[in-house]
Amino acid sequence: MSENQRQFPNILVVGAGLMGSGIAQLFAYGGHTVVLTDVSEDILAGAEEKIRRSLERMADQGLARVDLIEPALGRIRTMSDLAEATRGARFVVEAVPEYLELKQEIFRRLDTLCPVEAILATNTSVISITQIAAKSLRQERIVGTHFWNPPTLVPLVEVVPGERTSPETVETTYALLAAVGKHPVRVKQDVPGFVGNRLQHALWREAVSIVEHGIADAEVVDEVIKFGFGMRLPVLGPLENADMVGLDLTLAIHDYILKHLESSPNPSPLLTRKVAKGELGFKSGGRGFRDWNAEQMNRVRTDLELHLFKWLKDHRAS
Ligand code: NAD
Repeated sequence: MSENQRQFPNILVVGAGLMGSGIAQLFAYGGHTVVLTDVSEDILAGAEEKIRRSLERMADQGLARVDLIEPALGRIRTMSDLAEATRGARFVVEAVPEYLELKQEIFRRLDTLCPVEAILATNTSVISITQIAAKSLRQERIVGTHFWNPPTLVPLVEVVPGERTSPETVETTYALLAAVGKHPVRVKQDVPGFVGNRLQHALWREAVSIVEHGIADAEVVDEVIKFGFGMRLPVLGPLENADMVGLDLTLAIHDYILKHLESSPNPSPLLTRKVAKGELGFKSGGRGFRDWNAEQMNRVRTDLELHLFKWLKDHRAS
């Protein structure tokens, strides 16, 4: 048993949806006993099968060991009663829907139910950790752990302190995530969107704006990224790139271009209209910025998973 497994024998994951089930899988495969809780009995009933299939697909790629799948599944228990689920929990990851009031209420309850030494983490995508912790007494032991979808395959987790989070909570959380094979990073300040989603949605805002203003079709916007600067991103982040091409060039480009970029503080009217019409993309049958048929939607999902598998295989520690 590793030091981390000893320190955090019992992990609780609150919310067994897309992210929660993956986070439970990650910790269970990493040797921890995991309790997975949700308000939906249906979601809980399907969680084990979902995790089994995910581990089997990883094993097919040599990214999980077949003989460790059943032991991992055996370490996961599902239960809908939060009071029972919190018993003995040492590290909790909350992965319920992205509503501040809901998360505050969950943390208020976790605060009263969990053992005093437990660390409480939230997987919020963009909401301030300080706000989520606002109704809790143990704010020094509340921290953001922003996993990326799918959390079983994407290495990054942003570890984000709230205003009152102790450095010890940050470091313990960081070590726990590293021990289960993630690539944690320390974010220094609790700002909405942290680092990843600020960067990601700066790009998405511009992408939507380009389509909205008829500058290029949605397909072309995505092609420009995938066949252009997106190809460099796995080895060259924007700041590395700026250093490589020269900060003087970056300054000259910014001096000319920044005033022309989308800077609206509100969601795009095009995006708002599409949502009002029920054009939500894959989840509404395919119509979003583009029209997708079932085969195309399946291919995108499969291609993404295969791409992530390949990345992990290429970067596997030798
Ligand atoms: P989801 O809808 O797939 O899952 C949420 C689950 O929470 C559901 O199963 C729901 O039944 C359950 N739930 C609702 N209220 C609950 C309660 N009071 N107690 C226990 N369970 C409850 O959502 P998701 O995509 O897994 O997102 C969860 C969190 O992770 C959100 O904060 C989201 O912003 C964040 N996140 C999502 C992604 C992503 O790509 N989907 C990536 C990073 C972070």
